[in-house]
Amino acid sequence: MSGSGNRSPIVIEGVEEEVSRRGDPDYERKRAEAVWNGLKPERFPELIVRVASAEEIPQVLAHAREQGLRVSMRSGGHHWSGSQLREGALLLDLSRLQHCDVDPDSSTAVVGPAVTGRTLGAELARHRLAFPLGHSPAVALGGYLLSGGLGWNSRELGPACSYVEEIEAVTADGRTVRCSENENPDLFWAARGAGPGFFAVATRFKLRLLPHPGSIMSVSFTFPLSEADPVGNWALHTALERPPNIEVSLVLTAAARGVSGPGPRLRIAASAFAPSRQEAADALAPLANCPFASRAVDSESPHPTTFRDLYGGRAATWPPEQRYAVDTLWSPEPYETQLARSAHLIDRAPSPDSYVLVPVEPVAPDPDGLRHMAFSDLGSSYLTAFAVWDDPADDEANTRWLRQGMDALDPQGIGSHYIGEADLGAGSSRARRSFTPADWEQLRLLRERWDPTGLFEGYLTP
Ligand SMILES: Cc1cc2nc3c(=O)[nH]c(=O)nc-3n(C[C@H](O)[C@H](O)[C@H](O)COP(=O)(O)OP(=O)(O)OC[C@H]3O[C@@H](n4cnc5c(N)ncnc54)[C@H](O)[C@@H]3O)c2cc1C
Repeated sequence: MSGSGNRSPIVIEGVEEEVSRRGDPDYERKRAEAVWNGLKPERFPELIVRVASAEEIPQVLAHAREQGLRVSMRSGGHHWSGSQLREGALLLDLSRLQHCDVDPDSSTAVVGPAVTGRTLGAELARHRLAFPLGHSPAVALGGYLLSGGLGWNSRELGPACSYVEEIEAVTADGRTVRCSENENPDLFWAARGAGPGFFAVATRFKLRLLPHPGSIMSVSFTFPLSEADPVGNWALHTALERPPNIEVSLVLTAAARGVSGPGPRLRIAASAFAPSRQEAADALAPLANCPFASRAVDSESPHPTTFRDLYGGRAATWPPEQRYAVDTLWSPEPYETQLARSAHLIDRAPSPDSYVLVPVEPVAPDPDGLRHMAFSDLGSSYLTAFAVWDDPADDEANTRWLRQGMDALDPQGIGSHYIGEADLGAGSSRARRSFTPADWEQLRLLRERWDPTGLFEGYLTP
């Protein structure tokens, strides 16, 4: 960019790396790298500062204060709306905070915010331990845990943030604090669900780990989408009657992704996490004995699998070079209603790569378990809609499809959202409607307390 050659570099005392400023030669590369999505928001931070360790963060926050800049944070850069990129802000890049220590004796792990599910998952497999990691291996734990975290087997285990025992964070005044049930419990409450509106920099998470399931087994069937009723409804009923250690999802695709034959499809996939292979097979049996199996265009009979294989399958679902717009809906309406609406929506998708994912009860309804955290499960049914395309010329058509589609899925405007995957640019109320009114008010009060001058960016709005 013009003029950048004559500028002296910005150095923040105590910070190892050079700061990148808007207009610098490496700025656009760093800005693009901060967002995993191929669709890069047109928002331009003033400065991008990558820290080598948590100890550098207070100096960066002091610099932002001196310069009158607000601060946004980035761990893995996977937020679909690119919440981490804010116009005119200082982007604090935490991607080097990748320490990952698993202690098998105490069944705990201490991880940095940029550790990915792939890294922690591989460590856990070595020790026969488990954690409700997110479905994509590439997602970092920072934003995932702060949002709640709907992971593998979370229908049984609950959101991933329930297993966070302690968090270390740098607050707006530059202090490093710990929060847990006993220490700064209000900050701890917020850190488990506030997601991309959290008002401190989380630098370390202590996690409680779980025993590795003795057996994981999976089964799947793929049907033409025209079979959504009755096959989809049968799958929903059967899944809802299964014990919570069965994770079932229905995926409605505009075209066939990796399955035989052209045309829209309904894929039903189920995995059981059980102490033994027999128990996993028994748990899956009612789904495996699908009465509509003869109409399937593709199927996999029950087979043993691993977290690594499950991850591999999902990684293929989200190629990093594609453009994505994503939104979520917790609805008070039943799954059957949302399945029929989703089938109608997917029929009109402008891109063959788009799909609607309907996970059956992504977290088991357990109001008691969720009382001590900002995360809440806000509906009887849940779904995530993905607009996925390649060509920048199609940005508007695909974004419009998603946004009009979400209105069609929630015609009375009574649904809510999951903050970790909500389309925050869709409306100024998206973030608010990701929380109960009481929790939203509590978050506002806590933000005033912990960040009284508004140093940190709040929730992204259009
Ligand atoms: C391919 C893919 C698959 C996904 N699968 C799942 C899934 O299975 N389950 C699920 O629950 N979610 C899933 N997500 C959503 C994902 O968990 C969230 O988008 C999450 O925010 C990503 O974490 P991140 O660290 O990359 O966030 P980033 O994009 O780096 O940051 C997003 C926002 O989080 C806040 N933030 C991030 N790190 C910190 C920090 N250390 N301190 C303070 N604030 C911070 C900031 O406000 C920032 O704006 C998926 C996303 C993708 C792209």
